[in-house]
Amino acid sequence: MLTGVQVVLAGGDARQLEVIRRLTEQDASITICGFDRLETSFPGVVRAEWQPSVLRQADALVLPPVGTDDDGTISAIFTERELKLTDDFMDALPKSCKIYCGLAKTYLRKLAEKHHIKLVELFERDDVAIYNSIPTAEGAVMMAIQNTDITIHGSNCIVLGLGRTGLTLARTLQGLGAKVKTGVRGEDLFARAYEMGFEPFYVPDLARQTGNIDLLFNTIPNMIITAQVIAGLPLRAVIIDLASKPGGTDFRFAEKRGIKALLAPSLPGIVAPKTAGRIIANGLIQMLLEDDRQRGNAT
Ligand code: NAP
Repeated sequence: MLTGVQVVLAGGDARQLEVIRRLTEQDASITICGFDRLETSFPGVVRAEWQPSVLRQADALVLPPVGTDDDGTISAIFTERELKLTDDFMDALPKSCKIYCGLAKTYLRKLAEKHHIKLVELFERDDVAIYNSIPTAEGAVMMAIQNTDITIHGSNCIVLGLGRTGLTLARTLQGLGAKVKTGVRGEDLFARAYEMGFEPFYVPDLARQTGNIDLLFNTIPNMIITAQVIAGLPLRAVIIDLASKPGGTDFRFAEKRGIKALLAPSLPGIVAPKTAGRIIANGLIQMLLEDDRQRGNAT
């Protein structure tokens, strides 16, 4: 249990509601900021204005999965007010407090480093990223269905990157009856892809693999779907780029060529906020329990 652990939750979307619910079940002391338009009530949870003083006793500051944007703004859909994480707030945090988010941008990393506050990125944990790949793959399938006039069954798909997200997506597409090619860079993943019944190729060969493709999914967070690759795609092809912003596609050239190319961020929060929130909450609670054990308080 997290009895006596002080958690401040700032901003976020429907996923954070599940996090609040799960932290309440664990008996944490919770203060939420940026939820003034939320009608759901959480017994025992304190609602507060976003100001430095709310952080003075915090053991953990929980930010939305994206952390902050590049100027410190914390996205918060349940308020009209702006929430920003700036030096004043960091000064108010006890040095033992940790900041939790999904994946941090440079602004947040630098701010935490400057103030000697530990930043924990939950999506760097393999278990969290793998669980999270399930709603991500379902979201990618949803986008494919919405943006094509063919079935996924029988379609020719490429999945670029066979990491935690790519592997789940490739297997999901295969399960739906698609013919799946996978772009990898390592010989081990090439062999694994072959063993799993995909048609593997090395990413530098991408431009030679696209002649008959209906759906091109990317999970590699680098410029990979270049103008040269796009030039070789059939006009019916749809690119669905899952990699974190700005994605790995030359969107300008895709538009010029008349090929539909979509950047698809935050799919778990869109297609399955409750499941996505539960995944975040499970990872977060494990880490908070571990922190509490180290402080010698856990029951
Ligand atoms: P991951 O497990 O690290 O997988 C990334 C894969 O890309 C790895 O297999 C890696 O190959 C490969 N890769 C990286 N650079 C490459 C390059 N230059 N050439 C060839 N292959 C390369 O990461 P993940 O958890 O799957 O996440 C992938 C991306 O999706 C991230 O940007 C993440 O933020 C994003 N994401 C988006 C959503 C969404 O809703 N859109 C949800 C979850 C994750 P090696 O194994 O050889 O290193």
